[in-house]
Amino acid sequence: MAENPLFAPSSLPYQLPPFADIREEHYLPAFERGMAEQLAEVDAIAGSAEPPTFDNTIAALERSGRLLARTATAFYSVAASASTDGIMEIEKRISPELTKHSDAIRLNRPLWARVKQVSTEDPEEAWLLEKYREDFVRAGADLSETEQERLRQLNEELSRLSTEFAQNLMRASTESALVVDDPKELDGFDEDRISSLRRDDKYVLPLLNFTNQPGLVQLTDRDVGRRLYTLSVERAPQNFGLAIRMATLRAERARLLGFPNHAAYSVADQTAKTVEAVEEMLGQLVGPAVRNARKEAETLAGQAGFPIEPWDWSFYSEKVRQARYDFDASAMRPYFELDRVYRDGVFHAATLLYGITFTERPDLRGYHEDVRIFEVFNEDGSVLGLFALDPYAREGKRGGAWMNNLVDQSLLFGEKPVVVNNLNVTKPAAGPTLLTYDEVNTAFHEFGHALHGLFSEVRFPRVSGTSVPRDFVEYPSQVNEMWITWPEVLANYARHHETGEPMPAELVEKMKAAEQFNQGFMTVEYLAATLLDWAWHKLEPGQEVADAEAFEQAALEAAGIAFPPVRPRYRTNYFAHIFAGGYSAGYYSYIWSEVLDAESVEWFKENGGLKRENGDHFRRTLLSRGGATDPLTAFREFRGREASIEPLLKRRGLT
Ligand SMILES: [Zn+2]
Repeated sequence: MAENPLFAPSSLPYQLPPFADIREEHYLPAFERGMAEQLAEVDAIAGSAEPPTFDNTIAALERSGRLLARTATAFYSVAASASTDGIMEIEKRISPELTKHSDAIRLNRPLWARVKQVSTEDPEEAWLLEKYREDFVRAGADLSETEQERLRQLNEELSRLSTEFAQNLMRASTESALVVDDPKELDGFDEDRISSLRRDDKYVLPLLNFTNQPGLVQLTDRDVGRRLYTLSVERAPQNFGLAIRMATLRAERARLLGFPNHAAYSVADQTAKTVEAVEEMLGQLVGPAVRNARKEAETLAGQAGFPIEPWDWSFYSEKVRQARYDFDASAMRPYFELDRVYRDGVFHAATLLYGITFTERPDLRGYHEDVRIFEVFNEDGSVLGLFALDPYAREGKRGGAWMNNLVDQSLLFGEKPVVVNNLNVTKPAAGPTLLTYDEVNTAFHEFGHALHGLFSEVRFPRVSGTSVPRDFVEYPSQVNEMWITWPEVLANYARHHETGEPMPAELVEKMKAAEQFNQGFMTVEYLAATLLDWAWHKLEPGQEVADAEAFEQAALEAAGIAFPPVRPRYRTNYFAHIFAGGYSAGYYSYIWSEVLDAESVEWFKENGGLKRENGDHFRRTLLSRGGATDPLTAFREFRGREASIEPLLKRRGLT
């Protein structure tokens, strides 16, 4: 084990983890040594004979645990994107250990006593100190020994359950895949697509993230659509039981920590702050959204000639878009070639706005051969960081799209950011990768998170880049979506992959007109998932749930969002955001952030759009601040005033 590459800091540029040298058996020893090292560091801080200062306590904590952080970053990137049975085993074993480890720090009484005594005049330090105090209190630092003992048990079990939930779900995407013998049943898919699904003498279509599988748009055989949809909503049924158990444990934990339920605990350190604030906002949206979806359902039924079932929705809404707006979404794909979308679209927009440029570094390797790495430069030629792109779906990769850091920017360590964007685009058997419009949207969205990470210019890793409240973090990424159809940008990247011809202007116009249709569906699907999350996390200790599916139905009805043709974007059994991610009682964050997003889009438009000055203003006031300041203060500095909900209501057709 002498040459475990995780033991020493990476010698690669930007401290990129040395994935080419790391083998599965390196992780556990590195985790173990990393935890032991950090505990020793923490003991030294807690037991210091010096009077507590910011530097010997808070900054010292920031400097601790370097090996552990390095190991966890590399490991969890692999576990999310290129997992194997071996990695899953390690994950199962290590997740509860890590939970125990973080409790050992946050529940360390002498350490907490010192943290409470620290004071500082420096604003960035004061903000970080406040974050630390909040972290300690929220982790239970003020509870009695017996309460802390129970808290440790709850955290450990929750951590185990959450790993189990995620792993069940990852397996379900192939175990519950749609399998057909006769390729005729896949009518609607093109030849290439069908041949890429071939496995021996069968055709296998794996499940993707959402309730509404993207294949439903094209599949013409209604019964095949029904089967695919049913497989989707019924996948990973063992997760229903896990969800009940997790919601129950979270309710108990929230009560221990002095909150009526997990939702109240969860929003207390968010920009929303209270359950009432979230409910007031959601309350404004539900009624109009359901009315819009009902109208859309009538239109679809008119098109189909029969009442719409949930598995019909995608297919017939596409038909309506074709009939009513003369728009065919598949006509766009030849204009969205992956490389070009990035080089001439995503990157190009960032160059026009922020002056940054990108150079691919084929000499640098990610955790999988499909990961591509780019070096990013400021306008003056100085280096900014690395951007890694992992576009393709694969077995062992979780669903959806996300951004994460491989290295956190911090002035403390003089480290530049290394950020990754993960997508789940189907890799073609051969030829260019053509994207759907939704996938282009995802590319711009995730790159908005990447910019938030890359532009970070803060002192401490704890508040680097996207380390902001969850109900704020989606805001910069949503803003970046505004450039997708910005004329200068679109004309630059949307070119036919064979002829190089620009996308016809009328196709773009039709697409924009057609976008208005289906807003009801999208808002209801999203709100239903949000309210389901909310219901699970407003459970109070002692409230028993016997049947998760019955609970789900009752919750949707009680919230006024139950509309049979439109089910939640995620049902309980595959709602990884809330049972295996960081979004418990936090799925509202997307629409909450969209208030700031809609306001910011207006600001850009009022100020001349895609201009360097505008990019610089957004970068300076907001993106570079990371989590090192109050997020709403940063927003006010950017916008010049408080946000109002009106632009959002207008955008979603909810006025
Ligand atoms: Zn996002």
